[in-house]
Amino acid sequence: MGWAFFILLLCLTQLIAFRIYTMEKDAELHIAEREAIFLKGQLEASLNHSITATRVLAFLVEKDLLDNNFDSICENLLQQNPFIDALQLVKGGTIVNTYPLVGNEASIGYNIGNDSAHREEAEQAKLRGELYFEGPINLIQGGKGIVGRVPISRNGEFWGFSAVIIRHETLLRALNLDSTGMNDRFIYQLVKIHTGGAESNPYFQHVETIDRGIFSEVDVPIGDWIIYVKMKHPQYWVNAMAFSLLGILLSALLGIFSWFLAAQPMRLRALVALKTKDLNTANKTLQKKTRELEFSNSELEQFAYVASHDLQEPLRMVTGFLTQLEKKYLNQLDEKPRQYIHFAKDGAIRMKHIILDLLEFSRVRTLDDAIEQIDTHQMVNEVCMLEKRNIEGKNATIDTQNLPVIQYYRIPFLRILRNLIGNALKYSKPGMSPVITIASTAHDDFWQFSISDNGLGITEEHFEKIFVLFHQVDPSLGGSGMGLAITKKLVENLGGQIWVESAANAGSTFYFTIPRIQTKENQ
Ligand code: ADP
Repeated sequence: MGWAFFILLLCLTQLIAFRIYTMEKDAELHIAEREAIFLKGQLEASLNHSITATRVLAFLVEKDLLDNNFDSICENLLQQNPFIDALQLVKGGTIVNTYPLVGNEASIGYNIGNDSAHREEAEQAKLRGELYFEGPINLIQGGKGIVGRVPISRNGEFWGFSAVIIRHETLLRALNLDSTGMNDRFIYQLVKIHTGGAESNPYFQHVETIDRGIFSEVDVPIGDWIIYVKMKHPQYWVNAMAFSLLGILLSALLGIFSWFLAAQPMRLRALVALKTKDLNTANKTLQKKTRELEFSNSELEQFAYVASHDLQEPLRMVTGFLTQLEKKYLNQLDEKPRQYIHFAKDGAIRMKHIILDLLEFSRVRTLDDAIEQIDTHQMVNEVCMLEKRNIEGKNATIDTQNLPVIQYYRIPFLRILRNLIGNALKYSKPGMSPVITIASTAHDDFWQFSISDNGLGITEEHFEKIFVLFHQVDPSLGGSGMGLAITKKLVENLGGQIWVESAANAGSTFYFTIPRIQTKENQ
């Protein structure tokens, strides 16, 4: 998917880049062509002056009207034609007149027939019967230039030529160029094509190859020249190259992006499969652990039940025999043995309580009871009835605040309340009447109950431990250390939590929560 997208985009962008390349190249070629045509126009415009001048001179010779006025007529013609340096008359093959003479003296008497190149070019002019330029050549009078000749016939016979000389510098001026043959934008060249197609030496002496790159050529028939114009700094590839590179980059980026997008569902599927596998493994482990836990729990409960149940019988025997011993032999015994019997009986009674608590603990299991409507205030009263002796004996005050009517399991809730109120009474400060407050706050999902007292309090180090089986802060205060363990088990079995806030000698507050159960009536 990513690859396909990449290749598609790459082809598309490279196609566009190629199109840009050809369009820009065509545009630059067109610019070079326009420049070449413009230059040709300039050249021909300047040579038009020569046509006029040479024709006038030829006409005067043909009609024999020149007399001795060659100089004055030429002066006049040169004044009107700024791109002409000299005019000549060539009689037969020999230069007979030159204007201006100064600087051109060497040309007088020169026979152009002596040089095959001049001869050929003169023949061309003769053949054409109109102005035809030779050159660029090295002039006999010095310097470089071009020479144009118009054949003259007199009385039906060839007489010679009227000729025009345009020096190198004048030609450059006419073309608006300098001797380097180039400017900021273009490189120029002018080449003469000889009969037979051979090219003469280039006019400008630069080293640029003119017939490669962005160039254009035009013919100038008046001298059988070719003008070349070449772009100096062609730019056509720059934009195309930039677009091409950008296209490659963009294709790669979008290819990667689309590959990433396409791979996403696959990755997600793989991830889901992996997570599902992990979850299944975790589930299996959990199930195994739950089974193990259930097994060990039930084993433990069974053990606790059997142990506590079976221990009751021997304990009853011990208590019974001790009671018999006390009854029959009390009068015969001294103070010491009496005390021993008393301790033994006391120990047996405590053991009985421990066994009963253990039995109760082992019986706190999942709930099979039905949910009932419980008036918790009423239930506190019930607990007070059960703890009546204790309450009266300690002159305790029991307060209640905001106790609600809830939907819950009756027996477990009664046990929780009784254990916590019982403890609040039990662990009161000696010589101080217990004040116990039972309150409740409603939350969205649960009820929170608190049982506060003004008793002995608990130091922080015992906050967790007191909920563990058999843990007592001060064993000398009696009890089995199982009450809170049973209470915690009851609360947690009901889906709640239990904790304590307290400080030594500052009373304690036990909190527990129970979830709100939705029944048809309270919905
Ligand atoms: P027991 O059944 O022996 O009373 P519990 O499990 O109920 O044992 O309590 C554990 C310990 O927590 C007790 O030994 C007692 O020191 C401490 N305790 C429990 N309730 C209170 C309370 N309201 N005030 C102070 N200490 C308490």
